[in-house]
Amino acid sequence: MTSPTGRAPDGPRPPDVDVLVVGAGITGIYQLYRAREAGFSAQLWEAGEGVGGTWYWNRYPGARFDSESYTYGYLFSEELFREWRWCEHFAEQPEIERYLNHVVDRFDLRRHIRLGAAVTAAVYDEPSGTWTVTAGDGRTTSARFLVAATGVLSVPYFPDVSGRQDFGGESYHTGLWPTTPVDFRGKRVAVIGTGSSGVQIIPLIADEAASLTVYQRTPNWCTPLNNGPVTPEEQAHLQEDFEAIKEILDTSPAGFLHQPYDRASTDDPPAERRAFFEKMWRSPGFSKLISHYTDVLFDEGANAQWCEFIAEKVRDIVADPAMAEKLIPRDHRFGEKRPPFVTEYYETFNKPNVSLVDLQETPILGMTAAGIETADGVRPFDLVVWATGFDFGTGALLRMGIVGRGGLSLAEHWSEGPKTFLGIQTADFPNLFFPGGPHAAAGNNPRYNGDQVDFVTDTLVYLRARGYDAIEVEPAAEQRWTAMIDRGAAKSTFGEISYYFGTNIPGKPKKYLLNSGGRPKLFAMIDEVVTNHYEAFRMSRSADSPPPPA
Ligand SMILES: Cc1cc2nc3c(=O)[nH]c(=O)nc-3n(C[C@H](O)[C@H](O)[C@H](O)COP(=O)(O)OP(=O)(O)OC[C@H]3O[C@@H](n4cnc5c(N)ncnc54)[C@H](O)[C@@H]3O)c2cc1C
Repeated sequence: MTSPTGRAPDGPRPPDVDVLVVGAGITGIYQLYRAREAGFSAQLWEAGEGVGGTWYWNRYPGARFDSESYTYGYLFSEELFREWRWCEHFAEQPEIERYLNHVVDRFDLRRHIRLGAAVTAAVYDEPSGTWTVTAGDGRTTSARFLVAATGVLSVPYFPDVSGRQDFGGESYHTGLWPTTPVDFRGKRVAVIGTGSSGVQIIPLIADEAASLTVYQRTPNWCTPLNNGPVTPEEQAHLQEDFEAIKEILDTSPAGFLHQPYDRASTDDPPAERRAFFEKMWRSPGFSKLISHYTDVLFDEGANAQWCEFIAEKVRDIVADPAMAEKLIPRDHRFGEKRPPFVTEYYETFNKPNVSLVDLQETPILGMTAAGIETADGVRPFDLVVWATGFDFGTGALLRMGIVGRGGLSLAEHWSEGPKTFLGIQTADFPNLFFPGGPHAAAGNNPRYNGDQVDFVTDTLVYLRARGYDAIEVEPAAEQRWTAMIDRGAAKSTFGEISYYFGTNIPGKPKKYLLNSGGRPKLFAMIDEVVTNHYEAFRMSRSADSPPPPA
């Protein structure tokens, strides 16, 4: 394998690897594959003891896709697409973890991967243009390019509840679920949190536990996932349609197969509107955002009608009217937060062993050795599940000890929120990329993270071809993209109440962490970069690099 710099054997010591990828989720695995296929020496360091990222850590019962399985998996290999037959439209965690392990083995990537390597420091050395990266176990390596594919939902968040450590029973965060099975049978279980993970795990625990108490801060607009097995006929269609499916997924704004609907709610009389709402209720996953009436996310009246429709469903399903009212959101409209998709969620609250504590009425005061204390007293538990979410967007990057040019830490540079170009690079941190980080698009994650990985890889190839070994975004380009993100926040259907603004983390700057221009904006800017010969970036040769090719 040649170094991208083509150093002479007697020259200064080259870095250990050309590309060090951090994170073995779907983004990092693809980045490792692309970098190696492009002829770079590449390694991947991962904190966990297995590959899969989100699908390694979130192994709680009920953890599954909200994206259709075959739209989430990789599309870079038609053979891979054909040989992996997803069992369900929305696969469960074990199948997804198996798939990602299969990819790693099928493409012989495991030998490049170091597990149990949590990066605690990554420091840029300007004269040599390399990163020195250190893991928690003290091991160090040097890399020309550092690609932090560390995920946006990879740092679990525990709310600051006094006495949390004093609790004497079992305690688990959904995002740090143990690899050994957790037994709920005969136990008094509490679940704290009713976001996307909470609503997935709650029905499954209710089936097993002696009692389940759900602590809800704010309800969400939950609608059915409408999962099912992929039938042999559907498998056959998937096999036949690879090219067409790939074309749609490669180009659609949110990376789904769902197509936008062409009617507004006002185009239909009430009876037809209601029938359409029923159709939406029965439609799969994110189609309820993408294929809904064109005005439902944008017009207050249309949104309110759809919300009222969901509220009626909740009232129909949940037998106890007071409980039903508590499960209906009052503080946000549909689509203002990332809507969770559920299977038998509302039905769970009809079970005699399930109760609901509304934290608006009785906030948690603290934990004791026995259980959870609210104004109503202490409820004893054997097991507490924290379904309390993540430090979204910047959490992992800001915990990696990243220090760029002149000793500037990423934490300082981003003290008022992330500043990026394309959600891929930030000024003063040469040769650092973070595909799948903050300011990426929104939708089906692997699709737009994959776009970013493709761009990173193409950029490295571009550099190598021209004899450069350092690249850094120009501050003006960073400002332009970041200003666009900030402006887009106002246009986004997501509101400040959403964790997409970091609102769930006390003290975190309230900044929009997605790119509301989505993939189309990303594609357009990447095109502009390429057309303008990367003028948004400054490229250089490090002091000890050989002269460029003639
Ligand atoms: C329960 C759940 C369900 C989801 N469902 C969907 C879905 O249906 N569709 C969808 O599009 N998205 C979904 N997501 C979002 C999901 O995070 C992305 O789909 C995808 O997993 C992101 O992949 P990634 O590789 O970028 O990051 P991740 O999968 O988060 O992987 C990042 C990896 O980086 C590692 N890492 C982080 N910091 C360090 C460090 N300092 N040193 C070493 N390693 C480090 C982590 O351990 C982790 O393994 C879901 C998220 C969760 C939590």
